[in-house]
Amino acid sequence: MNRVYNFSAGPSMLPVPVLERAQAELLDYHGSGQSVMEMSHRSKWFDDIIKNTEASIRRVLKVPDNYKIGFFQGGATQQFAMVPLNFMTTGKADYLVTGNFSKKAAEEAAKFGEARVVASSKDRNFTYIPDVKAIDYDADASYVHICQNNTIFGTRFAEVPEVEGLPLVADMSSMIFSEPVDVSKYGCIYFGVQKNVAPAGMAIAIIRDDMLGKSAKSIPAANIPTMMNYTTLLNKDSMYNTPPCWCIYMTGLVMDYLEHDIGGLDEMKKINEAKAKVLYDYLDSQDFYTNPVEHKYRSMMNVTFTSPNPDMDKKFCAAATEAGFVNLKGHRLVGGMRASIYNAMPPEGVDKLVAFMEQFRKENA
Ligand SMILES: *Cc1c(COP(=O)(O)O)cnc(C)c1O
Repeated sequence: MNRVYNFSAGPSMLPVPVLERAQAELLDYHGSGQSVMEMSHRSKWFDDIIKNTEASIRRVLKVPDNYKIGFFQGGATQQFAMVPLNFMTTGKADYLVTGNFSKKAAEEAAKFGEARVVASSKDRNFTYIPDVKAIDYDADASYVHICQNNTIFGTRFAEVPEVEGLPLVADMSSMIFSEPVDVSKYGCIYFGVQKNVAPAGMAIAIIRDDMLGKSAKSIPAANIPTMMNYTTLLNKDSMYNTPPCWCIYMTGLVMDYLEHDIGGLDEMKKINEAKAKVLYDYLDSQDFYTNPVEHKYRSMMNVTFTSPNPDMDKKFCAAATEAGFVNLKGHRLVGGMRASIYNAMPPEGVDKLVAFMEQFRKENA
């Protein structure tokens, strides 16, 4: 078997021990005589799976008791609409636009009320994060929305907005479980699972109790489409209809891995910091490749860089693929390259990538 180092921004690598366990349990899950893909979502096996998955998310992320955890289809993009539909109670919300996904989230919210863009880093092509303390937030906003790690531009918030009376809502799709998070700072955290958690097909939202039971000012709660109503879905423990069973099962396996193989998010953070440091230190040590991000805001998960010109970028990506480092092509909005080094990317994958980059530099500089 010849596994590649997959630097894709998502779907992305999963830990090998998780894949092996899924394989071992595939044909006969715990004596049920069937796989998790085939079993009833109302079966006792699946009931255990969903309960244990939720309980392990609570332990790993230290989620306080006054937060609910839900499993939803439609990815993070559907959350862009569910957030305003359910939370925009005053008809207004404040959005920080720090990249493509937060821009999309704000555009979606504008369909349900006034989504005010209170800060943007577009002026320097999203290579930094605006000072969250210098923003003039609207005291009448229903919430403040951020995208905590900007997958495409390779930036992350070094500190998050903390505004008295305004719940913070964060898209954490590309950094969740990469390091500890103080959940109590947030009214809602949501993420698509295909970056750092599980296969594609699901989003998870972690929502403080007092955020629930409401709706956007522009729509009565009873008129929110059922499958977009957090309160309805959470009251049914994410089982209003058939949930994404396989994704929930795989999330549980990844949580077990984080808890028992890695030893929790403090340990995961150390590993991730070390990986990112190897790559950024290398980028800073030479002048063939360039990373445009202001250092303080560099993402620990998505590292962008360019070579001297677009033709060289192309040559780099082709040579990298040939050498077993795949999906390094940057997003079309940024060009160049992007190495996504999520939890499941082993440290030696980054070490070997850096060795490859240096070899390529020597041959092409
Ligand atoms: C990938 C990503 C999304 C989009 O996720 P989907 O599940 O494809 O809808 C949204 N936000 C961020 C930060 C992402 O990285």
